[in-house]
Amino acid sequence: MDFEVDGEDGRFLPRIRSLSHIGFPWLFDRNKLMLWHNFIRLFEPHLKDAEEIEHFYFDLLLNAAKRWNRQNPKRIVCESYIRLLEYEGRIHHDEHCYICETPVGEHISLMQSLIPAHPECLYGTSLPKEKVFEFFESKKTIFLEDDEVEYLYGIVMKGF
Ligand SMILES: [Zn+2]
Repeated sequence: MDFEVDGEDGRFLPRIRSLSHIGFPWLFDRNKLMLWHNFIRLFEPHLKDAEEIEHFYFDLLLNAAKRWNRQNPKRIVCESYIRLLEYEGRIHHDEHCYICETPVGEHISLMQSLIPAHPECLYGTSLPKEKVFEFFESKKTIFLEDDEVEYLYGIVMKGF
């Protein structure tokens, strides 16, 4: 596997776009391709100040690309993102609301970076706390309903 692109020293997105040269079957599926572009677009602002992009990020994307055709891409995005947060030491497995700092209840809302808060404090949709924390632990979405994945996906799309 070679990610090099000439003339774009250290730039992340062009190097990731070169994944397309590998010829994944989903490249011809408009919807899957659009989801892919929306996903990789998030990496550029996140990593733009990095001197060197660590292998973790390439491996994460390559792994996602290989699964993109077989699974719901939105689940892959969520599962990839929670791994990214773990790698960066940013999983907020916190029983307190980020906004008001008091304990959360059985249902929580999530802010950008999947930070828990009260649904009342965020004026938002909520998920059962147990399910969210299980997702944080297992890094799997298998026990989440599609609408719950849709909610998490929406948070991820706000930015890393
Ligand atoms: Zn609160």
